[in-house]
Amino acid sequence: MVLLGSKTGSVSVVMKVSQQQGRLRIGVVGGGQLARMLGESASALGLRLSVLAQRGDDAAVEVAAEFAIGSPQDGRDLTLFAGGVDVMTFDHELVDLDAVSSLSTDGHHIYPSAAALRFAVHKVYQRSAMVAANIPVPRHCILAPYSDDDFDAFADLLGHVPVVKADHGGYDGRGVLVSSSLDEARDFARALSASTTVLLEEAVELESEVAVIVVTDRHGNQVTYPVVDTRQESGMCVEVNFPSALSPARSAEALAVARRVAEIVGAVGVLAVELFVTPSGILLNEVAARPHNSGHWTIEGSVTSQFENHLRAVSGLPLGSTDALAARASMVNLVGSDSPTDLAGALAIPGLHLHDYGKSWAVGRKLGHVCVIGDDESVRVRAWKGAEFLGTGAARSL
Ligand code: ADP
Repeated sequence: MVLLGSKTGSVSVVMKVSQQQGRLRIGVVGGGQLARMLGESASALGLRLSVLAQRGDDAAVEVAAEFAIGSPQDGRDLTLFAGGVDVMTFDHELVDLDAVSSLSTDGHHIYPSAAALRFAVHKVYQRSAMVAANIPVPRHCILAPYSDDDFDAFADLLGHVPVVKADHGGYDGRGVLVSSSLDEARDFARALSASTTVLLEEAVELESEVAVIVVTDRHGNQVTYPVVDTRQESGMCVEVNFPSALSPARSAEALAVARRVAEIVGAVGVLAVELFVTPSGILLNEVAARPHNSGHWTIEGSVTSQFENHLRAVSGLPLGSTDALAARASMVNLVGSDSPTDLAGALAIPGLHLHDYGKSWAVGRKLGHVCVIGDDESVRVRAWKGAEFLGTGAARSL
């Protein structure tokens, strides 16, 4: 690696020796596992991927053609980074939206737009915009400003303890509390209110949770991946199964809601739409305007993965087929735990694909995932067996 610039503003740029001059340069804001998997697809497509990482040991750094160290919340860092790439995209949405918006106005190619990212950043904005567009969402109430009296009044109206959510800053269940204790929920809401607007929601009766990935290119062409079942534990996705167990009618309803949501958000690239399946129908949970955990199975399971289609979309290339390559696919997340790991044992499982994100180990952290595709229900059993060999802290529910 060659150090090209010591410090420019607060971004220090380090470049790997590259013989890829002349290729389209894709800049990914964020150096996490999504950027890493985008990097793997970028290599296959012959695109040159740069990441704006926060640390030199972020997951994507070792697969990127080049990287910069800086903050996604700092407008100067984003500006410097955008200046060195042809197209800028994101591996997470916790970015300075005003800076992204003015960079687009200045002519930089940035996908998704700040307007689309806003839906994913601010839960309150998302809920309000979706209600205005008649998308079914859980009953909710925005506490701005917060008061215990308003909290109690909404809990009385529901007749149960509300789910408490931070407007922004949460992910993987951080910033969300689903509790049966009114006092615990109120304390959590009050504490959140010091730093963010508080959103309260009815605790919906979940038959299941599903997700749909919609990809939209720069010309408005759109493809969708099939509906998948997702299972969360403490707010973190644990496993994803294709196909969803939904009835054909409910699947069609989920796809229709996801497509309408995608029209409203208007994101170029991948939009992941997370949905609640309830006895009274499909409700929108939330959206993410980037590749998503619910789409990792598409790396092995689909003709074109979500990562490749995201890169195609933001680069102005034609979208690829989202057809599945097998009747079934199961993806299980590898969550850091104290259990011993046995890589050889895992890799001896037929058809098991391992994705190790190269992250430093920490209990409760998503460190990788495994995926198995095939024609029968053993795919799920094999995926879980692999995850257990690899010491996942996620709990199996077979
Ligand atoms: P995050 O933004 O951190 O991903 P979510 O808003 O998706 O958090 O919530 C995480 C999980 O909490 C959901 O997948 C679901 O299992 C549960 N949850 C969230 N909101 C509700 C709700 N209104 N009713 C029931 N469960 C909910």
